[in-house]
Amino acid sequence: MTRYCKKCNKEKNTSEYYSGENHCCKACSSKRTKEYYKKNSLERKKRRIEIYDSYRDEFFRELGGAKCISCGFSDQRALQIDHVNGFPGKSRIDRSNSLKLLQDIHDNPGKYQVLCANCNWIKKHENDENIRGLNQLNTKTVHKVKNVL
Ligand SMILES: [Zn+2]
Ligand SMILES: [Zn+2]
Repeated sequence: MTRYCKKCNKEKNTSEYYSGENHCCKACSSKRTKEYYKKNSLERKKRRIEIYDSYRDEFFRELGGAKCISCGFSDQRALQIDHVNGFPGKSRIDRSNSLKLLQDIHDNPGKYQVLCANCNWIKKHENDENIRGLNQLNTKTVHKVKNVL
C-alpha cells in the first residue's frame, strides 16, 4: 500500500509514514520538526537578548553607572558587564537569565564591573599573558626541583 505525500509530491509506501493522521511522510515530518526547533531556538535566543537588553539600564545602575571604569567611555553600545575576577574563556556573562544576573550583581558588590569593549579586550589579553607567565614559572620551578633531586 502506498500513500501520496503532498509535501514532497511522492508516492511512498505506508511504512514511510508515521501512524495516525499524517499528511506527509516520515522524511518530511522530521524535516518539519527540525525546522520548527531551529526557528524556535533562534526565537528563544532573540528573546533572551531582548530581555537582557531591557535589563541593561538596571545592570548599569547597580554597577554605578553606564561608564567604563577603566577609561570612562560611556557609549552604552560598546559597554559590557565584566566579571572582575574572570579568567579568559570563563568570563562570559550568562545572558540566559537576566533576573538572576541582576540579583547576583546586587548581592555581590565588586563581583562585576562595567568595561568598554576595548578595555575588556585589553584585560583579557593581560590576563591571558599573566596565566601564560604563571605556567612558565611553574614549569621552571618543577625543573629546578627535579635537578635538586
Ligand atoms: Zn514527503
Ligand atoms: Zn574603557
